[in-house]
Amino acid sequence: MLEQLTNILNQHGNAFHQQIPRYRQNRYAQIVVLRETKSHAIFTTEGQTLDVERLQAGITNRKQIDRVVMYKRKQIAPERRTGKALLRDMDILTDIVVGKDNKGKNIILKRSECQIMGNSCGHCPDCILYGYAATKDTGSQRARVLTDSGFVLPQIFIPTVETLLDVTSTEFTYVLGNILKTTRYGAESNREGFIRNHVLGVYFSDVELFSNLELTQLYYDVIASERGNLPDYLSADQFIDNWPKVEKAALAQVVGRRHKVENLDGLLSGVHMLYEDEALLRPMLQDLDREAQRYEKGVKSKDKNSEDGEEDTGA
Ligand SMILES: [Zn+2]
Repeated sequence: MLEQLTNILNQHGNAFHQQIPRYRQNRYAQIVVLRETKSHAIFTTEGQTLDVERLQAGITNRKQIDRVVMYKRKQIAPERRTGKALLRDMDILTDIVVGKDNKGKNIILKRSECQIMGNSCGHCPDCILYGYAATKDTGSQRARVLTDSGFVLPQIFIPTVETLLDVTSTEFTYVLGNILKTTRYGAESNREGFIRNHVLGVYFSDVELFSNLELTQLYYDVIASERGNLPDYLSADQFIDNWPKVEKAALAQVVGRRHKVENLDGLLSGVHMLYEDEALLRPMLQDLDREAQRYEKGVKSKDKNSEDGEEDTGA
């Protein structure tokens, strides 16, 4: 049943690492996500002012326009919470022994209590993949899932890209699952907004292929060129149908090796199937956890205190 997903991932085997590498190797996986929402709440700070930046409309169309912004922490943090809830629910985040105290007693870490902000455990797949800032004596970890602020086209579509850096195929599957499963965005429950994520493409390369602002500007050019300016109302189909044009324009400037997932529907339906079947999902999450712990023990714990202080946790 998982054969299709496994086959597609194997076709791109050289894009992934067998184990999380100690040093950066610039193997990028980029997931292009069109975020569709009807809620304005995710574009406000403190529920009051609309977050707006003045930016060039397109790449060819150079007029300046105000664009609503979806900040990066509002994109990634909800997806982390989705994944973390799943790990907790499936009892993946077991208690582990992380050393001995001065009386020789085991120090137990309750990984199920790991929190994204402020109380990161440093020993779970979420910490190892999405990164965490140094607290107490936990060291820190650079995020390997990155994005940037997203900029909104009318009614309301936010083309974004999530960049995965030096991940295993299991980590890739987990991040993709988090993107597909997350529908509630916004830091606080009373201001949450519903978003539907459409995955437009998945690309592997040794350079970054897409940026959020560029995607929005390229879409502006393509859609506006049909009638001179951007219509007040856009549909998801206009984005999906125009993606090949935007993709071509974006890739025209790229220097580097790259390939893409040709059977995107197969990949996405494979992830859907995986996430629907607990008997398949559990071993996948256990594998994810094993690898994170192996990395923590074999690499992180030896590197503690030897990294510089400029960490981007992506949270
Ligand atoms: Zn953790």
